[in-house]
Amino acid sequence: MENLTISEKVKILKKGFQEKKNFTLKQRLFHLDLLEKALVSREKDIQEALKKDFNKPFFETYLTEIFPVLDEIKHFKKNVRIYMQPERVKTPLFLLPASGKKYAEPKGTVLIIGAWNYPINLTLIPLIGSIAGGNTVLLKPSEIAVNSSAIVLEIISSIFPSDVIQVIEGDGVITTEILQNKFDHIFYTGSTQVGKIIYQKAAEKLTPVTLELGGKSPAIFHESANLKRSIKRLLWGKFLNGGQTCVAPDYALVPKAVKSQFLAICKEEIKHYLNKNENSTIINQKHFDRITALLNGNHEVHSGGDFNRETKYISPTIVEIFDAESTLMSEEIFGPILPVYFYNSESEIEDFYRKNPNPLSLYIFSDNKFFTERIIENFPSGGVLINDVIMHLAHTNLPFGGRGFSGFGNYHGAASFQTFTHTKSIMKQVNWIDPNFRYRPYTEKKTNFLKKLIALIHKF
Ligand code: NAD
Repeated sequence: MENLTISEKVKILKKGFQEKKNFTLKQRLFHLDLLEKALVSREKDIQEALKKDFNKPFFETYLTEIFPVLDEIKHFKKNVRIYMQPERVKTPLFLLPASGKKYAEPKGTVLIIGAWNYPINLTLIPLIGSIAGGNTVLLKPSEIAVNSSAIVLEIISSIFPSDVIQVIEGDGVITTEILQNKFDHIFYTGSTQVGKIIYQKAAEKLTPVTLELGGKSPAIFHESANLKRSIKRLLWGKFLNGGQTCVAPDYALVPKAVKSQFLAICKEEIKHYLNKNENSTIINQKHFDRITALLNGNHEVHSGGDFNRETKYISPTIVEIFDAESTLMSEEIFGPILPVYFYNSESEIEDFYRKNPNPLSLYIFSDNKFFTERIIENFPSGGVLINDVIMHLAHTNLPFGGRGFSGFGNYHGAASFQTFTHTKSIMKQVNWIDPNFRYRPYTEKKTNFLKKLIALIHKF
């Protein structure tokens, strides 16, 4: 396999699709099973790889990489049979006695391009949906998490035949070469900037795409929020994975009326985040420099603020910002720094939102129904989670995806199956009857009859 060109590898996958190597229910279940067993047996190696890449704690690797993937497999093992079943639909009266159904047709050969920050989760969860959808798949993990990319390659190539699933490692140059081939769907996770390149490349070949991108997800507090519980959840989600989470609460907007309580609780809560072994480091020095540069601005550091370029460690940090023009509002932070703005009036929430509209997630901490509804109605976002952060991704029955600059399309559970299949409409006509009125000659009598018939049908 190593000696083959990228195009030759893609050809093998396309042939695998034509030869229906992952087509029947039995084949799909078998492949899901293979993946499940490999993950369980290689759990330790996966944890070690992520530890090497950015000091990710074993607990977090289990919680956010291994468990969600196993959970997704479990979902599909239980449901793929149902998803594959053609769905009968009601037929309009004027077409009776014909019948109609929807058929989930595999898309073909799918390309999945993963990001480094959840290197197992973000490659294997879309892979599971693609397998369940009956496709053959080319996986391109991110080169930035070197050890994780290597373990994905090792696991996948040891269990799957090359005409069902393959992994190609490499950077943007390799990805560009991969994109010269025609795929039947491209599923990309990563930055908005590269997302635009992928979209352009896909457009040249009219390939459908899913773009899972990033952005600044706000955490908006109301005075009614249970502050202690909310802050505990907020900080956990912010500092998970060293803050390198696409749906991390990027910044918090908190009513000024509760400022002193908010800061006092944060001061207590952040004491649980001092153990360096429980904090991931920043993935590389380039990102480290980018994040620490954001700290050169007009704001007040309330906790943390320590960093070390050599070890790429940034301590969990909480800073107060004074307006939406802060350097910390200029881009997605993607690191363990939480800017908090204390607002006087709800109109200020809008100022912050308008600077970074359509976030991937929007978090609301509130026990006030009207406030919560107002925020949901006025501020469009990929998804909403009330009184918690990040955990909505674990809800297999909720589609996950962004809008605007945070991407488009979605996945997880049933949504993945839809993404990785084409809904083929099938209508069946009968032969035992064939009313003559639609055929030529088009007489006035026929037109009048048609009008009367339609008026009658529309009464029902
Ligand atoms: P990254 O650098 O790992 O890039 C993502 C992928 O794009 C990699 O596989 C990489 O090889 C490829 N790539 C890089 N340059 C390319 C080019 N010029 N042409 C083609 N392919 C190229 O990851 P990243 O972009 O640093 O990821 C971080 C961003 O991703 C953040 O904005 C984050 O919010 C977002 N993200 C989104 C989700 C989501 O589910 N929506 C999940 C994780 C990360």
